[in-house]
Order: sequence, then C-alpha cells, then structure tokens
Amino acid sequence: MPWLQIWLEAGREGQVFTYANSPETPAGIGDLVRVKLQGRPHTGLVVGWLDQLPASLSSKRIQPILEIWQRAAVDPDWQNLMTSVAAECHTSLFKTLKSALPPGWLGQRNQGPSRPSRAIWLVERSDAALLSQPLTERQQQLLEHLGRHSGPVPLRDLCGEAGFSRAVLKGLEARGLVQRLQAPPEGSGAGLAPAHWPALTEAQASAVQAISGAPAGAEFLLWGVTGAGKTEVYLRAAAQALELGQGTLLLTPEIGLIPQLLDRARERFGCRVVEFHSGLSDGARVAAWRRCLEPEAVVVVGTRSAIFLPMPRLGLIVLDEEHDSSYKQDSPMPCYHARDVARLRARHSGARLVLGSATPSLESWLSCQSPQPASRLLRLPERIGSRPLPAVRVIDMRHELADGHRRLISRALMGRLEQLQEKGEQAVVLVPRRGYRAFLSCRSCGEAVLCPHCDVSLTVHRSKGGQEWLRCHWCDHRAEMGNRCGHCGSTAFKPFGAGTQRVMEQLASELEGLRLLRFDRDTTRGRDGHRRLLDRFAQGEADVLVGTQMLAKGMDLPRVTLAAVLAADGLLHRPDLRSSEQCLQLLLQLAGRAGRGEKPGEVLVQTYSPDHPVIRHLVDGRYELFLAEESQLRRQGGLVPFSRACLLRLSGPSASGTATAAAALAERIRSQVAAAGWLLIGPAPAPVARVAGKSRWQLLLHGPAAQPLPLPTESLLREGLPAGVGLAIDPDPLCL
Ligand code: ADP
Ligand code: ZN
Ligand code: ZN
Repeated sequence: MPWLQIWLEAGREGQVFTYANSPETPAGIGDLVRVKLQGRPHTGLVVGWLDQLPASLSSKRIQPILEIWQRAAVDPDWQNLMTSVAAECHTSLFKTLKSALPPGWLGQRNQGPSRPSRAIWLVERSDAALLSQPLTERQQQLLEHLGRHSGPVPLRDLCGEAGFSRAVLKGLEARGLVQRLQAPPEGSGAGLAPAHWPALTEAQASAVQAISGAPAGAEFLLWGVTGAGKTEVYLRAAAQALELGQGTLLLTPEIGLIPQLLDRARERFGCRVVEFHSGLSDGARVAAWRRCLEPEAVVVVGTRSAIFLPMPRLGLIVLDEEHDSSYKQDSPMPCYHARDVARLRARHSGARLVLGSATPSLESWLSCQSPQPASRLLRLPERIGSRPLPAVRVIDMRHELADGHRRLISRALMGRLEQLQEKGEQAVVLVPRRGYRAFLSCRSCGEAVLCPHCDVSLTVHRSKGGQEWLRCHWCDHRAEMGNRCGHCGSTAFKPFGAGTQRVMEQLASELEGLRLLRFDRDTTRGRDGHRRLLDRFAQGEADVLVGTQMLAKGMDLPRVTLAAVLAADGLLHRPDLRSSEQCLQLLLQLAGRAGRGEKPGEVLVQTYSPDHPVIRHLVDGRYELFLAEESQLRRQGGLVPFSRACLLRLSGPSASGTATAAAALAERIRSQVAAAGWLLIGPAPAPVARVAGKSRWQLLLHGPAAQPLPLPTESLLREGLPAGVGLAIDPDPLCL
C-alpha cells in the first residue's frame, strides 16, 4: 500500500486526501494516522489505498504520513458496512462516517483498553435522605444513578457514559455518601444470577429457542401484544449471545425509553451494559464506542445511532418497537432507517436480527408472509399473567354536540376521571398538540397568524403566570401575542384548538382536586426529563398524565387503568401514505398503556369520525386484518412497499432560486429516470414550503420495488446546483 487515501474531518464534502505510506511502519485500512494539511497536524482515518498515483498527482507533492495514531481504530468489517450503507443511502462514505462516528472521536488517542483491575468502583453508602445539609443537583443525580444499580458501578462508567465529573464524586466521598473500592466485590457487577430470572412462558421459551437455534444472519419479527413479555425474550437472547462471547445491540426508538430498558438490562447484566444515545456528552459517547471495541462482549442499550457502534463479535441485534418512525433519519444525510442498516449488518456479521413490536410495520409483516419469507414470525399472543387487553369505547363527539355539550372533554370521560382517585387508579390522556392553543386567527379576515420564517401557523403557549406568547414548533421562533394581523391590520384575534396546556387547565377547572402532570416536549427537557416526570407519576404524585404522542410509547405504569384520546380526528386525517397505519399503531400503543397491572384497563377515544376504518380496527383489535387490508390497497395502487419511492429535497434562501434549481435538476435526471422505467414527479414545493427562512422544493421518483435508484452519484447531482442550495437524497422516505 504505497499511497493511502485518508479521510479528514477538515476536508470538503466527499474529499479523500492522498498521502504516502511509511515504508518502515506502514499503516493499513482502518488505522488512524496523523498527517499534515496546510502546515497543521490533523488526525485522519485510512479508508483506502492506491497502487499507483493518478496522473493528476505528482509523487513529489505527496506528503508522508507523520505517525500511526491508533492501529485498527475501526475494523475492516465495520468499514465494509459503512460502504454498503453509503451505497444504499445514495451518499458518500464520508457523510456516512461522519454520521456514524461519535463527535470528537478522531481527536482522541486510544489509551488502549482500560484494565478492569485499575478501575475504581463506587457504591452508595448511606441514606442521603437523613442529611442535614442539602446536596447539589448533580450530587443527587449521581446518588440516584448509583441507587438504580444493583451493585457497585465502575468509575469509568460514571465519568464516561453517565458524564459525572470527579468533583461531584469527591464531594460525595468527602461526606461519606459513596465509597471507593479498588476492585469489584466478589460476584457483584455481574448482574442477576440465572436462578433469579423469571421462568419463561411457553410462548417466550419457544421464541428464545427459535432465535438462538437459528442460522447466522436469520431475521425474526417478534409480535407480542403490549405487555406480552418481549423484553424478557430480548434479554434471554442477549444472555445467550454473551455466553458465546458475542455482543448485542438493543435499540429503542426514543431517548425517553432508554432509562426503563437500561434498568432492566443492568439488572440482568450488571456492568456489561453500555448506554449510547445523543443525550450523552461527546466524551461519554467516545468512551462507549471504545468499550464496544474491548475484548469483553457487551450489551448496548441505545437509540438509532447505536446501530453504527463497532462490535467485532456481534451476535444479536434487536429493534424494539420496530414500527416506530423515529428509527428513520431524515437529515442530515445519510437518510437511513435503522431497520435497513440492522438488516445489512446482520448479513455482514452473521448476527441474528429480532424486530419486536405489538403493532408491526406493514413492511416487516409482509416480509414474513411470502412462501419463502425473509423473516420468521414469532408470536407472543397473550399478556403476561393472561391479563386482558383493554376494552375500547368510542365517544361520538357529534352526539355530544347534539346534546348541547360543547366541552373538550366528553361526559363519559369526565365520569371516568372523577372516579380515579377513589379507586386509586391513574389515567393517561393523549392530546395531539403541545402548547395552549393550536393557532390564532384574525377575527376580521380569518387568516391564521403564521411564523415569519416558516409556512406554518404559530402555536399559543402560556407561562405559569398566565402570560401568553406565540411559538413556532418548526423553528422555535417566538413572538408576542398582541401584534397586528399581517393581512388586514386588525388587532382582534381568536384562538382555536386545544393543546396540552389548555386541556390541563380545563381538567383542573372542571374536576377540582384531580392532580395533573403534563408530559410533552416542553416539560421533559434535559437529560433525564422523561424519566423524572414518569417517576413522579409512577410514585403517585398525580392522577392523570396529559401528554402528546410520547405518551403512547412503551412505558410500563401498572396503576394506569384508563387511556384516553381527546381529539383522534387530528391524527386520522393526515395526507400521508402511512397515515392510517401510523395512526392505528399509535392508538393501539396508547391502549397498551392501560391495564398492565392487576386491574383491567379501558380506552376512551373521542372522535367525530367513529366510522373511520382506523377506529373500527382499534375497536375490534384485529390489527393483522388491518395489515392485510392495507397491503391489499397498497398492492392495488402500486404503492410503497410494492413499489419504491425516492425524494430529492432541495432547500435554499430564495424561493425563486430554489424553484429554478429544482427544475434544472429535474431536467438533468429526466432521461435517466425515464430510461429506467421510473416516473419523475415534480418539482413541487414541499408540503411545508418554507422552514426557518429556507424555501423547500422536492422531486419524487417512483419505480419498481427493490430496484436501484436511476440516479447519478450524489456528488454529480450536487455539482450542478447553485451555491447556497442544499440537496438531500432520501432513498426510501417514510413520509409520502
Ligand atoms: P413487552 O416488552 O412485551 O411490553 P415486558 O417484557 O415489559 O413486555 O413484560 C411485561 C411485564 O411482565 C414486565 O413487568 C415483565 O417484568 C413481566 N414479565 C415478562 N416475562 C415474564 C415471565 N416470564 N414471568 C413473569 N413476569 C414476566
Ligand atoms: Zn386579519
Ligand atoms: Zn418557524
């Protein structure tokens, strides 16, 4: 390898730099090396090599590498995976690497695997509640963190993944609240002994057996109703992988679901569990990355980006709640779906892939249906303890109106909420939108008040003191309420639609003494925002949790017996190919929050469209019938996934400039697209045509399923674009 191709973070998009290899200590692919660029040292990754220099480069001008910074920083298999992902996502290896590697990774030299014997272990020593002097917030968080572990926690986990500073530790140590140990006490940190694992149900046992007995690269769809014990199946399969010295990637779609899964994984596997998601600091992510490269196999609990963690011996990949759209990355490129990357990875590495859900995506269900299915369906048909699924009651809001009841909350729901406290039960109430009011419109001309930077209306928010202001949910622009109408100059406005804040207010005024908590993006900010709010609710601080879509996702709250949807209509009528599928998934998931404990649950759905097919299937609970019907419709219409779509999204500062660029791009690709038998639709303005001051246009390509995109490479596509106009290629967009 005389000439090395090296990726530098400092380089332009798609650029590789050529350097001369060192004859004495040659570097290889996957090594990190130090090189000089414009007189300054940089760290780069060797991604390829050349036998001969192209004619355009003269060997005299090529500099040698300075030193090898770290050998085998990424293994060749991993780099092959990156190359495949880049190809599938129609983008460069460089963008893919940039997206996959944790921020700050290049700059840090690996100290080599840390030796467990040198690690210091920390335990909680006495009860902080008895203290006279208060603790700082970080100190409290650290104690909480320790308290969640069954045994001692290695220092490197606290300072690395969990991101606590040494000062916080020292403060607690000085007060005798934590203790340092030089080595883990015998048998601790190892997790729960197998003798204490729950005995599997028959369905769980056969699922575990199917997974562990399967050939390398096998794929499964684990379909179990909410509360059926899917997580237990994942943990068992992960335990078997560990026994073989293989690691597991256990993914969940939402950062809010991490704590719950992490607790269960830590209880089972102790300190062999590694946390990875965007809520961690850069340093913590780099530490987690390194940990995965160490010889001891680990179980990673993470969100979608964890699919890229290097795992030299990967045995199992699990995507929990595989139907969730958060697994899809829309920007920046690569626009990947973690499920597709997982499938590639399973094939590359021989790992088994398990997709789990109570409401599988149409795609995953279909891949179990063909005569020679790519994926095997494993079912967990019953809730643990044979607990019944909640009954669904639809409240026809048209009747409420006809009876002269004009409130947001129907009488039936009111009645149920009134009884909660007396019965010692809890409820979750889903409101499709956060904020106070959905939008404001002008009383004179009827126009909605729009964000000055985006083509969307502003949402009314309210502070604790009752002060109201306007916010854009797309770009976070804030504005005062009392402005003049931009269309007619009137100063009179009328609010429409209720958000979570308004629902809270209504509930509080109509049901005195009912204790409420709000669960939306505004109340769950920060690192542990979700967890703290859910902990407070679980501890009985409130009777009702009012929240947005986040409520439906995966949490296990045994005292919740009622799940309600206030305005299902806002969810039903979206102009999107997957609108029905996603809406039914959301409602079934929400229903799954009710009745997980001793008492049976109930679901109340308020809607003006009780005959909508989604509502019908919610009531009859026949999700598989829905999937069969939906796939029939899509097959007849030649829609995704029976065909393939690709979106080219353009954005630029000027509306006309972006439109012209989109039209020119369409002309450039038109003949290639047509020659391949594909359709080119557009250019057209994006559904929201302006966001944060940028105009957005799109081109849609439509062609046969599973065929390669009839497009030139990304860099060629980009070449013809005017400066300032951005392009994203989304090869299989979720929103259509
Ligand atoms: P899912 O992931 O399918 O929603 P979980 O794995 O969270 O379901 O299981 C629901 C509840 O049942 C959890 O509290 C879990 O601890 C418990 N559980 C799971 N499997 C078993 C089992 N085999 N025996 C007893 N309890 C179990
Ligand atoms: Zn007006
Ligand atoms: Zn905006």
